[in-house]
Amino acid sequence: MQKIHKNEFPNKIFFYTTLHQNNVTFNDLIRLAKKRISSLKSIETLKDARIMDMNLTDDELSHFACRLICCNVPWAFSWFLSAELKLFKARLKETNPSDIKNFFYTLYLKRAKNLVIEDSILFINPDTEFSEDNTIENHVSDIYTTRVHFTKAPDVLRDLNSKIVDGYFTLDHDQMKKVIINEFHEHLVRRMNDLKKNTKLKTDERFQSISSELFTEQKSTSNQIGNIINKSPPCINIIIKKIRTEKHLKFNDRQILTRYFKSCGLSVADCIDFFKGNFSCDPARFEREFVYSIRHNYGLEGKRADYKSFTCMQIIGMNSCPFVSTSTISEYLNSKDLVDIEDAVKKEVSNRNFTKACTEVCEYTNKKEKIDLITTPVEYFKISK
Ligand code: SF4
Repeated sequence: MQKIHKNEFPNKIFFYTTLHQNNVTFNDLIRLAKKRISSLKSIETLKDARIMDMNLTDDELSHFACRLICCNVPWAFSWFLSAELKLFKARLKETNPSDIKNFFYTLYLKRAKNLVIEDSILFINPDTEFSEDNTIENHVSDIYTTRVHFTKAPDVLRDLNSKIVDGYFTLDHDQMKKVIINEFHEHLVRRMNDLKKNTKLKTDERFQSISSELFTEQKSTSNQIGNIINKSPPCINIIIKKIRTEKHLKFNDRQILTRYFKSCGLSVADCIDFFKGNFSCDPARFEREFVYSIRHNYGLEGKRADYKSFTCMQIIGMNSCPFVSTSTISEYLNSKDLVDIEDAVKKEVSNRNFTKACTEVCEYTNKKEKIDLITTPVEYFKISK
């Protein structure tokens, strides 16, 4: 394998503009992509750049391999962008200020397209763009005042100390990082979109099947999902039974189950794996329609909200709590051999005390007394643990 010398990467931060390695086997490429994807998954929660413990050659190769694997799968495309951005931010945090400044002026501004210089003021405009071309376009240094259009660092809008006049703010060191982060993101989006247009790549089944394998077939090592299912409340047990017999779930039940799994601590990969293994649709449709939705519920897509499990009141409103129907709950208690408490449960149900009835089932099955009223399925799970 060709050795890459440190000085081929002039700074500690870089945008992966060039693949220095001329030859690599397909198997090596995939091995490195797998390693990178696994590290990127960890950084989603760890936020520590040290998780990417690769040398520069492997770092670069694995990054380019992941671009190829992720560019044609919509949710993998956005996942990769977001994970690389997190890694880049984490690395930037560990980079010393003089390296950041050097990168900003030497590798970004001197080569940037559409940079405007007027009366000793540099204007970073909405169309200013990082250039992979090594040609020096601008003669700039830190003696210039730099004014940045807010679209080049949207995060500054949250910073109450940033004064924005006519859409521009005056750059300081912290904002310099934000501009670099935004530029990295825009650059990566452009490169990924270029790859997406490549028709040869689009029809290359090797990358499609690898993408599917890497993102959806990681098996849980701890039978965590089995434990979660065994300790589930009746509403979840009924949904699980439905998915296993009907090989499909309607929207509300899918949402309830996904957020329940998430709140019980199941990883997104294991959650996707569970749905994939229990749905009867073909893998391409599953990728297209359901993986995004699961990742959305995990806060990894769209507005990236931190969704919690639905509450019992919400589930009752969605008509997915079995306690609202005497016949459904009777059937459930019988199937679980819980006939001893059927009368007590039915009494609470007839008074519309649905959560009280569920609490009684939880107390009985776990041999506990006077537990707090169940208000979410996750509380039931925690007590059952
Ligand atoms: Fe589920 Fe809550 Fe109904 Fe119990 S009361 S079955 S936890 S929705």
